[in-house]
Amino acid sequence: MEKARSVSHQPLEETITDNNIIELKLRQSHEVITTTYNKVQEGKTGADWQWWFTNSKKNIWFGVRVQAKILKFKTDRFEALNYKNQTDVLIKSAQKDGLIPLYCFYSQWPLSKNYPTKNCLTFPNAPESYGCSIIDAYTIKKNKKTKKTKKSNTLASVISDVFPWSCLVCCQSTTSRSNANSLPDRIKSFVQNVLLRNSSDDILIPKITKEPPRHIKSILDKGNENHENDDPNLAGVIVIIESDDQNKGGIILKQGKLPSPPSSV
Ligand SMILES: [Zn+2]
Repeated sequence: MEKARSVSHQPLEETITDNNIIELKLRQSHEVITTTYNKVQEGKTGADWQWWFTNSKKNIWFGVRVQAKILKFKTDRFEALNYKNQTDVLIKSAQKDGLIPLYCFYSQWPLSKNYPTKNCLTFPNAPESYGCSIIDAYTIKKNKKTKKTKKSNTLASVISDVFPWSCLVCCQSTTSRSNANSLPDRIKSFVQNVLLRNSSDDILIPKITKEPPRHIKSILDKGNENHENDDPNLAGVIVIIESDDQNKGGIILKQGKLPSPPSSV
């Protein structure tokens, strides 16, 4: 993103998403399984991904539904964030499948902007770690209501509510920091106790499940092939499997180190 901004080239969301996935798989080939679907209409805004987290025995599962939005350099806005009723659609689609709806923001800004990026509860403040940031869709929906619509998609308006995406694995609640908890437990704990800490009580947090849904089972059975899916808004899925081996590089998720996003500040 920094390189793109320096040459005044606006990248597409899909480019950053693909780069991130490739990097993740290069570093963690045994623990990351991905599949893309064919049915998403080309050029359609708002294609989602499902991220599923499981333990090494694959008998504990927790998932999120993620929509990526890239910062438009010229305006410092996530231009498509307020497109029609996209946030409601994301929330409904996630709830239907027992998933948490999230946005993943690809951002970059000059350090002189001095945005208040101090949300990570584990590591010292590093603005570059916000290149890939997450925020729940419920907060975005609330922002749209409380802030003027024109202002609710600016970087400045969301920055204090977003977390580096690595916080999914580094910023669990104090009650669940123990390594005894599985990756899905820790992800759920972060979502529930950190990400949604200021949300209203009526948000239903999906339960950890013992089995993944059918389309994920199919991916596990058949490997990385392309598979058909009935959901026209689902671009693909990422399955992240926790490694048992403490000495292997595969444990990075336990240590809270997702790869540095290519969109570093
Ligand atoms: Zn963190």
